[in-house]
Amino acid sequence: MATIPVVLSCEHGGNQVPEPYRELFHGAEPALNSHRGWDPGAAELTRTLAERLRLPAHIATTTRLLVDLNRSPNNPRRFSQWTSPLPVEQRELIMQRFYTPWRQAVELQLKQAKAAHGKVVHLSIHSFTPIFNGEARNCDIGLLYDPKHHSEKRLAGHLRECLLAGMPTLRVRRNYPYTGIQDGFIARLRRHWPEREYIGIEIETSQALYDRDDRDWMMVLVDAVESSLGSVDS
Ligand SMILES: [Zn+2]
Repeated sequence: MATIPVVLSCEHGGNQVPEPYRELFHGAEPALNSHRGWDPGAAELTRTLAERLRLPAHIATTTRLLVDLNRSPNNPRRFSQWTSPLPVEQRELIMQRFYTPWRQAVELQLKQAKAAHGKVVHLSIHSFTPIFNGEARNCDIGLLYDPKHHSEKRLAGHLRECLLAGMPTLRVRRNYPYTGIQDGFIARLRRHWPEREYIGIEIETSQALYDRDDRDWMMVLVDAVESSLGSVDS
């Protein structure tokens, strides 16, 4: 195990609709079951990383179409086409019940780790659809970080090297299919916490990986995370 503390979070781990909102999402099953409603496979990967490396993990199971935990609290796009038309009090209630407690729980664990060890690594686990708007995304694993953040850049570089050493056929890309600096949980925390204390990387996995018969790639990823964490303090 690496000496640096690591916290895992999975913002889009499930597509459950809480009971009071079932009627609101009536007929929305196609969206709920698609990549719009959740990140298929991301919870499985997060659980595997947590178990193998004995790391704390926060896995959200409520659909992102209720409120998106990976958008900042002032981002209007945190609400979907089903929830943004709701009256402001109802949207506020969704924030109080489903957004704020989850964010606070992850932040508390990160803060405690920072306080105890001086710094923390935060890995946020996601998956992306391999075909978007009719175009194939030429990538299996994307590592999202801030290119100006030296520790993040270095850790992402080690991760990529370890992934390719473990499975040379993996297509690993940096800041793809999204950039690491657009609005998200990690991007927000990075703005508030000093670079020396907080290292945040989003690991984006293609949903096509989870359709494979084997999970060799996942074991390669587990090993890559473990060995590259050893490089953080040096
Ligand atoms: Zn996601």
